[in-house]
Amino acid sequence: MSVLLGCVADDFTGASDLASFLVESGMSTVQIIDVPASDQLLMDDVDAVVVALKSRTQPVSEAIKDSIAALEWLKAKGCQQFYFKYCSTFDSTTKGNIGPVVDAMLDNLGERYTIACPSLPVNGRTVFNGHLFVNGELLNESGMEFHPLTPMTDSNIVRVMAQQSQGKVSLIDHAVVEAGPEAIKEAMKTFSENSRYSVVDAVSNENLMAIAHASEDLKLITGGSGLSIGLADNYVKKGLFEKRYDSKALRPVEGGTVILSGSCSAMTRAQVAHYKEKNPSLKINPMELEHQSQTIEEAVNWYQSASLQGRIPVLIYATDEPENINKYKHVLGEQKASQLVEDFMYELANALSRRGVCRFIVAGGETSGSVVKALKVTSLKIGESIAPGVPVVQSTEAPYFLLALKSGNFGQVDFFDRAFQILDEI
Ligand code: ADP
Repeated sequence: MSVLLGCVADDFTGASDLASFLVESGMSTVQIIDVPASDQLLMDDVDAVVVALKSRTQPVSEAIKDSIAALEWLKAKGCQQFYFKYCSTFDSTTKGNIGPVVDAMLDNLGERYTIACPSLPVNGRTVFNGHLFVNGELLNESGMEFHPLTPMTDSNIVRVMAQQSQGKVSLIDHAVVEAGPEAIKEAMKTFSENSRYSVVDAVSNENLMAIAHASEDLKLITGGSGLSIGLADNYVKKGLFEKRYDSKALRPVEGGTVILSGSCSAMTRAQVAHYKEKNPSLKINPMELEHQSQTIEEAVNWYQSASLQGRIPVLIYATDEPENINKYKHVLGEQKASQLVEDFMYELANALSRRGVCRFIVAGGETSGSVVKALKVTSLKIGESIAPGVPVVQSTEAPYFLLALKSGNFGQVDFFDRAFQILDEI
């Protein structure tokens, strides 16, 4: 049987976030890293595929190229519905990339309308009157305005989407959403006549369920991971599949564990502060990377001794406060500090894997992208959740790395301890 749902995610943690919700909703799901080769095979019996791209911060033309290549591959696998997954804080640069990618996907599919629904209430992200809130704070006052790569300075998603896309944006507001799937469907029909996308309010899981059920006939859906929770019901209703919950079994592996953090988001800063109180940690500084006064070799040597040759989990982090990040940007240039850190994490993951590290707990979407690429992982099996939207994942080929890839603001303050415990028990 062919795949039902084909998803394109604009970063790696976002992809496993979406995959974990799909698994919880009863869909057997595989995550593919990067645009798949045309001959890449899928495991049998997969209901949903999530292709993880690193397109959030690419130049617009590259983001479009990768997203369309992924979409074409998913179409060739026979997917019946498509999902473009972005962050629940609508992370974008001033040029996009959400708007331009949505436009390109709609064009490719020959469709003229879709919805934009970033809301993820379980992680405190809600949309009301088109404004995005993070734990009750407006997006642009939530700390996201300081993000090193995608600072979000406007909470009005209708406005943000309008600025970065070609078509007209409408709003399906809370009152309509509360009225249920039929009312939402009716609004979609009306708005599709004069707009290309509708931002949809959602403040609860019930709202997301209703929106997902109303989306049963949309060819392309766009949103955070939250909206995916109700899609399985649509396929059951159409007689296309039966829910199944069999993808939790991951295989044990032998080797060391490391925690790598390149996220500077508020929750990661709290998690790093909490973890390093009681555990060995090494701070990476972009200025020192630039001057080569901090090297991979030193970090690897530090890891070997601090972790007692991999027996205890230790933290290596570049996580820093907004004022320092601004300082580095000022001295090194807009993207340079971030790139230095990403390159360092890539090399470090590579070097550590060659020394037998097989469990990687990673904080940060872009950072996870670097690590997964360094490990040459091409597809992932999805296991149990450590926190909402953060499952344990495992590469489907030897050496079967066990990974926890955490988006910046996800997870509880003791996330690193919890992740270590769960990975250790597999
Ligand atoms: P999040 O999931 O919180 O958005 P990401 O890993 O996606 O985290 O993005 C964080 C970005 O910040 C990465 O590009 C990372 O390399 C960069 N970064 C990390 N530490 C620093 C630092 N000390 N100074 C500047 N940039 C940094």
